[in-house]
Amino acid sequence: MKKKISVIVSCAVLFLLALTIGGQHSAAKSPTYVYKVNENLYVHEAMDVQSRKTGSLPKNAVIFVQPINNNWVYVPNKKGYVEASKVARQQGLYHVVATKDTIPVRKTATKSGKVVANAFAKSVVIKYTEVAGGWSFVNYGGTYGYMPTSVLQLPNSKPVTIQNAKGAELRKLATRSAPVIDTIPAKTQLKEYSSFVGWSFVGNDTYSGYVKTADLAKQTPPKPEPPKPGTKKIALTFDDGPSAKVTPQILAILKKYNAKATFFVLGQEAQKYPKTLKQIAADGHQIGNHSWNHRDLTKLSIYNAQQDLTKTNKMVASITGVTPKTYRPPYGAITQQMRQQINMKPVLWNVDTLDWQHRNPAKTLANVKKNARNGSVVLMHDIHQTTADALENVIIYLRDQGYSFVTIDQL
Ligand code: ZN
Repeated sequence: MKKKISVIVSCAVLFLLALTIGGQHSAAKSPTYVYKVNENLYVHEAMDVQSRKTGSLPKNAVIFVQPINNNWVYVPNKKGYVEASKVARQQGLYHVVATKDTIPVRKTATKSGKVVANAFAKSVVIKYTEVAGGWSFVNYGGTYGYMPTSVLQLPNSKPVTIQNAKGAELRKLATRSAPVIDTIPAKTQLKEYSSFVGWSFVGNDTYSGYVKTADLAKQTPPKPEPPKPGTKKIALTFDDGPSAKVTPQILAILKKYNAKATFFVLGQEAQKYPKTLKQIAADGHQIGNHSWNHRDLTKLSIYNAQQDLTKTNKMVASITGVTPKTYRPPYGAITQQMRQQINMKPVLWNVDTLDWQHRNPAKTLANVKKNARNGSVVLMHDIHQTTADALENVIIYLRDQGYSFVTIDQL
């Protein structure tokens, strides 16, 4: 399924869903979560490694867990405790069943595994983790099991509201025979993750499930401010920061010339220099995602690449309140699969100043003079002093050529 990447697509789909599991483990009071086993381990009858072993779990097993404290978790199915450091909570992400046909959900990760549910084509599952053999552990409408990883894709999402004045009936499955689990009031804002045969899967912090598509009105997202007409436009972009030393100098020069730019930041650096990141946002610049720590995303699985970007998005959002909607893959390395499946707009460049390589302000300016055109995206790095040293002359030159300085979204 070819997916159009659109500016209205929100990364909210990637927010990590803290979903609790009801039903089958109702004996215990505390919430249960999906975990994966990091290494072969024993289950103990008490929260003490010296206590009697009541069972074992193999590496990579998917289990339901009740967190107890920093050191121990409880595994209801095994009626015992395991060390918290040996298991990892798996975050759920919405995925669409990107097929023409219904796909079975199986109890075990094998082709002959017992079928516990049949997931409609284009329906939405929560994918927790991938396991060996090309299988993923999922929740389909409240039923847990395994599906082939290859049929699952990250969805595009669209903002929608409930337009039915009486509200919309919410169901766990896309069929009239599924019981109504809730009624979503009129005007509630949600995201639509998939729509097919008259049903839409919608979600927000409170609700998730299927409503009739006819009960929804599409929302048009606010348009970014249009730049002034009649001038040439150029987007200055700065990668690999924020840097505590260089970024503030860049910001001061941009402010002096009332220029807007886009900063593709590393999550790791944002975490180190939150004040600087805040200042970038406060000055009205756009913040894009440049991965957590500059790994080549093409060397990761698509799932791990997405997780890396999501981690960075969350860090930026936690500091600035705004989730990046664009990403620049480190080294400009991107695959067709990333373009199709990563739910953010990729942004590369067409004017490379090579500032990181020559560290020479005059060469940075010369590369801009040679290559800048209307609509260009200029690549620089706000971690080198020589880039800050070059910036004022770059801006003066471009301004005198009739350019205005806009963000990627305004280009
Ligand atoms: Zn970079």
